Amino acid sequence: MNKEIYNKHKITTVDLCLFFNMKNFSKDLLDWYNVNKRPFPWRENINVYHTWICEIMSQQTILSVVLPRYKEFIKELPNLKSLAFCEDERLRKLWAGLGYYARARNLRKGAQFIIDEFQGTFPTNYSSWIKVPGCGPYTASVIASICFNEPVACVDGNVVRVVSRLLNLQANVWDKQGQDYIHRYVNQLIPIESPGDFNQAMMDLGATVCKKQNPTCEICPVKHYCQAFNKETVSLCPPVKPRKNSQEENIVAVIFKKISSDEVLLIMREQGFLAKTIGFPLISSNENLKIQISLDAIKKMGFSFTKLTGEFKHSITHHKIVGTAILVNDFNFNSKTEKIFQKQFKFSELQWIPFSQLKHNLSSSLDLKVLKILSSI
Ligand code: SF4
Repeated sequence: MNKEIYNKHKITTVDLCLFFNMKNFSKDLLDWYNVNKRPFPWRENINVYHTWICEIMSQQTILSVVLPRYKEFIKELPNLKSLAFCEDERLRKLWAGLGYYARARNLRKGAQFIIDEFQGTFPTNYSSWIKVPGCGPYTASVIASICFNEPVACVDGNVVRVVSRLLNLQANVWDKQGQDYIHRYVNQLIPIESPGDFNQAMMDLGATVCKKQNPTCEICPVKHYCQAFNKETVSLCPPVKPRKNSQEENIVAVIFKKISSDEVLLIMREQGFLAKTIGFPLISSNENLKIQISLDAIKKMGFSFTKLTGEFKHSITHHKIVGTAILVNDFNFNSKTEKIFQKQFKFSELQWIPFSQLKHNLSSSLDLKVLKILSSI
């Protein structure tokens, strides 16, 4: 954070009293939340398992996609034990459409960890939740504050935006120093009597009123405490988040199809960013040259292929993917080709699936885009 701004806003008790009366701020925010909170199913009756599942599902997936999947997931895997012992295939189907399947595997790992390390009883504080696989500081603070009333701050992008506007912070709130500062600030604001509601109120305020674009300040319950609103600098807060350079990658999806039937080959991939998901064999590289070498290897396996028309584009974390699909029509597995195939694709399972069933077996949106290309020929 810019030193000047940081020093200007360095938190002391005196500063907080000067900025606003903490008790009144929390009271006004909570009064608003009690009337306006978003009606999520996991908020109906607070349940640790439900809070944990919805929290992991909502990371990097929009809520309109999460809601129906969440209901189905809880219906099928209603408790820790059912999640811990869920088979891979079933878990993948329950996670279909949510993306980042590694989160589902970590959830199951987390359930197994709680059974082994905590005798199947959910941990009751932040410092224990942070040890659960797949559970970072944010998830641990959500569960600890909502389910166990621990006064720890939950700071997501919405909360960063709200705080930066409340304090009129126009610089470097996204770096480590800025994030630490905001954490300390929110930690000081949390009322001991209702930390969970306070954290959820801050998130809801950011998501529904103090929005990124066109915040509705006129109906904001905390506008009297808002520095940016009072100084008419809302559009300057927070500063634009610096983008990480995304890496461009080329991918070729290889569709192996039997001539004698309409079956298509899917594998459980064991490498690359889609590892541990079932889908088409992929050749990936950020250098076209390497792709050509891999295509030559397929030719050496004795198979000819046709390049399908149409490109697919896909973004995942910091990867921008441009993909093409090739169709190998005369594929035949034998001990010789299997060896080369294993070396080329690194898979743990292999299945021939009828064309009509493909969409029920694919969970990644990248594979669904490949299927769309295949369906159009
Ligand atoms: Fe956000 Fe406007 Fe409320 Fe300030 S007054 S917290 S900018 S919605």
